[in-house]
Amino acid sequence: MAGNFGSLVFTPLVKDSMQRNRAISRLVQREKTMAQLQSPRLSRRRLLAIAGVSGGATMLVRGRLFAKDEGIVPTMINAAAKAKITVHPVRRNISVLEGSGGNIAVLTGNDGKLLVDAGFSVSRTGIADALASLSGDPIKHLVNTHWHTDHTDGNNWLHSAGAAITAHENVRKRLSVDTRVEGWSWTFPASPAGALPFAVFATTHELQRNDTKLVLQYYGPAHTDGDISVHFTEADVIHVGDTWWNGVYPFIDYSTGGSIDGQIQAAEANLRLTTDKTIVIPGHGQIGSRPDLAKFRDMLVTIRGSVERLKKQGRSLEQTIAAKPTGAFDAKWGRFLITPAMFTALVYQGV
Ligand SMILES: [Zn+2]
Repeated sequence: MAGNFGSLVFTPLVKDSMQRNRAISRLVQREKTMAQLQSPRLSRRRLLAIAGVSGGATMLVRGRLFAKDEGIVPTMINAAAKAKITVHPVRRNISVLEGSGGNIAVLTGNDGKLLVDAGFSVSRTGIADALASLSGDPIKHLVNTHWHTDHTDGNNWLHSAGAAITAHENVRKRLSVDTRVEGWSWTFPASPAGALPFAVFATTHELQRNDTKLVLQYYGPAHTDGDISVHFTEADVIHVGDTWWNGVYPFIDYSTGGSIDGQIQAAEANLRLTTDKTIVIPGHGQIGSRPDLAKFRDMLVTIRGSVERLKKQGRSLEQTIAAKPTGAFDAKWGRFLITPAMFTALVYQGV
């Protein structure tokens, strides 16, 4: 699955939908203007330049869509638009749909389908087909693990298809207004009313659906300020959203309350929330288990320590990236959206 992500994400161009391309082009142009105005600290363009890995030729091709350096958001949408939605049966009446942004969990049964996360709206047809292949139950409920677009862009169509949406209160807050993510050099416009969570909570919330008790639990500020876990109690399956990226460096969203320390605290919480029998669904990457969560926590803690030492020695971000504090991990963890240089910068910002 991780390899599949890698091959999808770095495909540079899509030509099969001119209408979508034009819409995204307008967004990209607007974002370029905003990036110039605001000098974002962590734009992919700047980080690539710092790391000396930017394709200079690509940067000079003006007006070209989806060049590698044009940002993570178009890259993610592009990958979702081209991806086939894959269905992974997990345990009991729970499955995972992979291929549209974050992993989507689906609980089927007489109460109607319950989804955890919504993917991108460009995947609507593929997701609808995948859902229909699972059962004839109508779509009735949606839980968002956090507000990021690769987990909530499909909220509006799922709501119109019948889903009541539940999330942490900060998810509704973020989706209700224009929200800028500096790390993506992108401003997301406020979501339409139908896409907003109908039911929100602050710390914990329980739902009873399809002979299953679902426990929703807030992590505190972690990857954003609105991350929750969703535990399907009887099946002992847990969706932990973007507090876990299985086998790849995570994005950390400082613009909306995330930090490296919060990400580490959530990784510790995930070890407390699981046993060796628990099946764990990450926000990104393959479905895994508790030992995989420990590897992720250890990676975060080790790199945080290395980056902190370099920063305390007085090294600039550029010097810290050049010292390759992630070097021992890059072959395994550095092959997805977040490159070693970008991850070093994300950690540097928080130590
Ligand atoms: Zn996220």
